[in-house]
Amino acid sequence: MADMPTLYTDLLIDGAFVAGEGDPERVLNPATGELLVSLPEASVDQVHKAVSAAHRAFDSWSETTPMERSRLLLKLADAVEARAEEFARLESLNCGKPYARALGDEIPAVADCFRYFAGAARCVGGTVANEYLAGHTSMIRRDPIGVVGSIAPWNYPLMMAAWKIAPALAAGNCVVIKPSEQTPLTALLLARVAAEILPKGVLNVIAGRGASVGQPLVEHPKVAMVSLTGDVSTGRKVLQAATGTLKRTHLELGGKAPVIVFDDADIESVVEGLRTFGYYNAGQDCTAACRVYAGGKVYERLVADLSAAVKTIKVGAPDEADAEIGPLISDRQRNRVASFVERAQMTGHMEITAGGKARAGGGFFYEPTVVAGARQEDEIVKREVFGPVVSVTRFTDAEQAVAWANDSDYGLASSVWTRDVGRAMRVAKKLQYGCTWINTHFMLVNEMPHGGLKSSGYGKDLGMYALEDYTVARHVMVKM
Ligand code: NAD
Repeated sequence: MADMPTLYTDLLIDGAFVAGEGDPERVLNPATGELLVSLPEASVDQVHKAVSAAHRAFDSWSETTPMERSRLLLKLADAVEARAEEFARLESLNCGKPYARALGDEIPAVADCFRYFAGAARCVGGTVANEYLAGHTSMIRRDPIGVVGSIAPWNYPLMMAAWKIAPALAAGNCVVIKPSEQTPLTALLLARVAAEILPKGVLNVIAGRGASVGQPLVEHPKVAMVSLTGDVSTGRKVLQAATGTLKRTHLELGGKAPVIVFDDADIESVVEGLRTFGYYNAGQDCTAACRVYAGGKVYERLVADLSAAVKTIKVGAPDEADAEIGPLISDRQRNRVASFVERAQMTGHMEITAGGKARAGGGFFYEPTVVAGARQEDEIVKREVFGPVVSVTRFTDAEQAVAWANDSDYGLASSVWTRDVGRAMRVAKKLQYGCTWINTHFMLVNEMPHGGLKSSGYGKDLGMYALEDYTVARHVMVKM
């Protein structure tokens, strides 16, 4: 392993770096289970100071021109890129991700996210509408909302931070962001980088647990909007906490993506796709291709080929050059994943055709797993596992496949695999998901919105739709 990167532990509040004054949180290395650093979280007083700083900064930040904000976001993108290796090293250390994937996939996407919103900031505009009332001209403005309290999860810590910070700042808001207590390190490095570029108070980074730091942030009366990416149960808590002050909320919650494979699909590319899109980031991805419905004629071959392919996935430590996936984030998460697979096995009608075990030795590793013979009513089909586990269910006709795919509490991502364009389009139209891919899965671009329906939440990350979410449409009327 290369040199240990610097672990920054200070919070960024009002342009100053300060140590947390709350209880320490143990941040672990998931690849070994060892302690990386004990990081004192923000006290409630520090949460309030961060919000007040953002509130003060809003007056001048919201008056900057789109061009000025754009320039600073471009600088931020350059600065992230300039320290790409350090960010990637830290992210892979804190999450257990393969270093090559963090460096090759995530950091470029993060830099591009800041660049996209730097450009998009200059394209936000209202419409000069019309004289709907004689002698009065109406126009629409899109204005920033104020202080945004952002709360991020542990699966892609820096990328989720970028998805929240970039559109919010581009739109002219100020931000207080709390990364996950399990993965605060890259957000704290981003704080270092951003403090050299942004005016003080515009971005504040506080670390700590949900209940002790997230909750006071959500409840603070000067936080005008809360943006959360996390679990459905956390979404409920955040919503409840937001009711006191009637805040805007933006929720990106879990997923359980259906993958409908028709008999005419190119099975080789389905298998190749599932091998990647079902297991990337050890399946800790809300869009993971984890719930496969296979047509009767291809079911047996798909299970056999997929199981064989999944057995070749190289699980390894972040610095192993050919590692494709790393460990899960915590022992708790690994136990959770293992218990799903055990319960599936206990039903008697499902078969584990690949994986199905924790890997011996240190770290929170779990083997990439295929569960065949799953039925629509099974827990493994219904609930989000958030690990390297893909279930396969046989279907008999298209209507049934679509009905089963939609029979879910979640509504984030889905895919359909077929050579028949008409069928692909008909099915895509019917699927109640924020995104449907045809003959692929998982691919996101900063230009296109990402967000769900049903329990997957609401509000869009990415694209111009995110800028809409982080602004408010206002009507201004002029009497001529
Ligand atoms: P989590 O809900 O446990 O934590 C997410 C964040 O919420 C953390 O920062 C946590 O500290 C904070 N939090 C927890 N309780 C809180 C409270 N009461 N008030 C305020 N903040 C609180 O989720 P996680 O385990 O970090 O992440 C995994 C989950 O995130 C999965 O369910 C996954 O599907 C979801 N996710 C969704 C998307 C999406 O775009 N829809 C993307 C990534 C992850």
